[in-house]
Parts: sequence; structure tokens; C-alpha cells
Amino acid sequence: MKKFFGIFAVLLLSLIVMWLVIVTLQKQSEVSIEANVSNLDETSQGEQGRQQTSDLIDSSQGPVIYLSFASHNEDEFHPDYPNFIQDEDAFWESRSNLIAYAQMLVSHGVQYDFQTDWNFLLAVQAYDQGDESTNGKNVIRYLHEDLGVDIDPHSHENGGYNFVDVAYLISELGVEPTGVVGGFIAGPPESSQLDYFWSLRTGLMYPSATWTPEILWGGGTGQHQNESDYWISGVWYPKSATEFDVHDPTAPLPNVGNNSGTWDAFFDLLEALQDGELDPEGFYTATIMINQSEMDEANRQLYESYLLEVASAVAQGDVIYSTITNTFIAWETTQDGEPTIHHTSSSADTLEEPPFKKPLKRPLPKVEL
Ligand SMILES: [Zn+2]
Repeated sequence: MKKFFGIFAVLLLSLIVMWLVIVTLQKQSEVSIEANVSNLDETSQGEQGRQQTSDLIDSSQGPVIYLSFASHNEDEFHPDYPNFIQDEDAFWESRSNLIAYAQMLVSHGVQYDFQTDWNFLLAVQAYDQGDESTNGKNVIRYLHEDLGVDIDPHSHENGGYNFVDVAYLISELGVEPTGVVGGFIAGPPESSQLDYFWSLRTGLMYPSATWTPEILWGGGTGQHQNESDYWISGVWYPKSATEFDVHDPTAPLPNVGNNSGTWDAFFDLLEALQDGELDPEGFYTATIMINQSEMDEANRQLYESYLLEVASAVAQGDVIYSTITNTFIAWETTQDGEPTIHHTSSSADTLEEPPFKKPLKRPLPKVEL
């Protein structure tokens, strides 16, 4: 019994000592935070300086928007797209617009996801041995190796090519494709491809090819009709076709929201962030989309002028340029599994259709999925 009390006394004593150490450490860290803040105040000059200091402190505590840039090229069954194999001139024109657009983005520090369907890749395979404008590399290798661009499969799965075949074509051109599903049908529920991507592993055109989807992105509706329910910012694991905007940590694939893909929706989100309307604990995402057929000089200049507007928000830490894959990794490493599912503000419903929202020129052939 005496021995028991002895052990109990030792335990109690060590608990008291641990508590004292913790309290002292806490006091010290509070003091050092105060010291840092007052140092900042001292070094800042005048009213403007103090304003900047408090901005810095505020933005380091608030949420940020992970902003990605993506583009699509389409197969020959879409308007504004030729069969690039049959129309080599169109291929070279599209290629040079793409290079100029990518170089413009990268010169502003943007991280770019190039999302491509099969037809353009077949033309790269057929015609593109590299030239001076790409340091002697085919355009896919140049984008990835020289400009740091991620190459994501995108596919309407026409002409016998599914997503795995597109991933295979990318790897045949010398670049490892990401695991990003570069656009898919998320709704309405009866058309949802969610289950399809949960189990997709092998090619159709190249049956021995394999690729595993890792991150869903850009979920919309067929031909982008009545799509606004699917315009979401954030990262989560969609539960099912009928409950796409419900988080289920046991679901197989995460989704990175594109916030609809338009500049207007992004600027709305940024305004909400700067007005303090977003959840301080939230994790916000947006993508700026462009169709490869619209990467002409006028749109390049327009996008560049918007990038100059975003620059101050980037400098303040409100916006971080990030690839879709890195956005997911940032969520995974900082959010401890907590989802953010933020439906894009209602004003986005009145937006003009984004550039890629166009009716199909002729019906798509049926492809077994
Ligand atoms: Zn497409």
C-alpha cells in the first residue's frame, strides 16, 4: 500500500511539472508573437505602412483561392475543330496559338493544366518532330519539360478512344499524364459518369494500356445545359451520382471544383473573400478555362489584362496559382480531410456562356462506355 502511494505521488508530481512546462512555453510563444507584430508595426512607416502590415497579418489567417488554368481541345465532332490529321495547316496554327498562350501564362507565374483529347495528340504524333519554337521537342514535351505544364487527359470518348487511350497517347509522346480527369459529366444523375471513373482502368483503342483516374475536375452537364448546380468551389469526395455535392470520405475519388471556369465567377469569389464572406477555415478553388480554338491574339491579350488585375491578390496571398493536382495535394496536406463545397454565387447564373459552351455541330456517334 505504501508502495502504491509512492508511485501515485511520483505520477502526480510529474503531471504538475509537465503542466508548468506547457504553461511557460505558451506564455513564451505569446510573447514572441506579440514581439513579431510590434516589430512589424515599428518597421512600417506612417498610415499606409500600418495598413499594409495589418493586410499581411489578416491574409495569412484567412482563406485563399487556389486558382488553376485549364484548356480543352476537342475532337472533330465538335464545332470549330477540324480533323487535325486531315488538316495539317490547322494543326500548325493551333499549335502556335497554344505555344503563345502557354508562354503568356507562364510569364505571369501561372500554373497551367493542358487538357487534350485524342485527335490533336494523333496529329502531334504524325507531324510534330519539334522545331525552333519548342527547343526541338514535340509540343507536348515542350509544354511539360520547358514550361512546367501539367498534361491531363480530356476526352469525349468518341471515335473509339476513351480516357485511358488519351493518357496512353500522351505517354507515347514522352510525357507522364497526370491522374486528373479533365472534365466529365457529373449530372443530371441519370447521365453521371461518377461510377464510370470509379472503375475505369483500361483502354479501348489500346486494350493493354492502363491509367487510373485520381482526381475528378470540371464536372458539368452534357453540353453544359442547366449546369449551375455543378458550379462549385472547393475539394471533397462526391458521395454518389444523386448526391454529387455531398462529401463521403469513403468515396473512391476526390473532386476539385472549378467554380464554373469563368473569369466572372472567379472575380465574384475573390470579392467574397476580400469582403470577409468566406469561411476562414475553408479551402477555395477556381479554374479559368479557355478553348484551344479560341487562343487567338485577342483572347490572349484579354486574359493577360485580367492576370494583371489578379497580380495584387496573388502578392497579398489571397490567390495562389496552382495546378489541379497540386491544389488537391495542398487540400490533402492542410485540411485534415475537411471538405469545402461552396456553390458559386447566384450572380454567376446570369453570366454569358463560357467560351467552351457551344451546341454540337452534329450529333456524336454512340460509344459504348
Ligand atoms: Zn471537351
